[in-house]
Amino acid sequence: MPAALERIERLVEGGGPHQVATVNPEFVMRARKDAAFARVLEGADLCLPDGVGVVWAARRLGCDLRDPVAGVDLVQPLAAMCARRGWRLFLLGATRGVAAELAERLREANEGLEVNAHSGGPDPTHDVETLHRIHDHHADVLLVAFGAPAQEMWIDRLKNRLGVSVAIGVGGAFDYLTGRVPRAPVWMRRARMEWLARLVRQPWRVRRMAVLPVYAIKVLRSPR
Ligand code: UDP
Repeated sequence: MPAALERIERLVEGGGPHQVATVNPEFVMRARKDAAFARVLEGADLCLPDGVGVVWAARRLGCDLRDPVAGVDLVQPLAAMCARRGWRLFLLGATRGVAAELAERLREANEGLEVNAHSGGPDPTHDVETLHRIHDHHADVLLVAFGAPAQEMWIDRLKNRLGVSVAIGVGGAFDYLTGRVPRAPVWMRRARMEWLARLVRQPWRVRRMAVLPVYAIKVLRSPR
């Protein structure tokens, strides 16, 4: 996490636009079949390992990654960084009111933080309104919670018009951070079993998670 935050800090300092993705095994499996999504991930300025599945695969394939950096865990330290550096934060996505509630919480927790929010949507019909809101706030850092791959494709499509230095796809982070979807208990997170809690609480994920055994087999069969 500290290394990820430092990398993001450098990206913001360098001016934009930069794209950051929080990659989990579902991303990897999708990218194998979806060339446009694969291209966007390959072109991202920073891909963070969102969960133990990616850290395990990376290590097995000889990449020195220590811990996962989940999008949901990135939001609060990133907000603190924005407050400290005087960078303006914008939260985009989730159902109506969720991003605004999170913005309020982040404002309370971080004195001086300039943060604004809009629910918007990944469909191009929202673009004019969404761009107007982001420009109006003079945002430097943008968090996009449309879920994958919509948020990555959205950032890629509009990144030259956003006016931000860094845009990061954070999936369901706003729902977790406002308590709309409860996170796994700490012991489960420590045991690296958050995925199991997620499956129990949101059983509809089973279809999306069905790719995980295939992912594991592909990793095990990959040459090191
Ligand atoms: N979402 C949205 N607009 C859409 C579709 C989804 O804002 O058109 C939001 C949704 O409300 C949720 C997030 O995108 O907050 C997706 O969460 P999910 O947990 O499915 O994402 P994951 O982390 O699994 O990619």
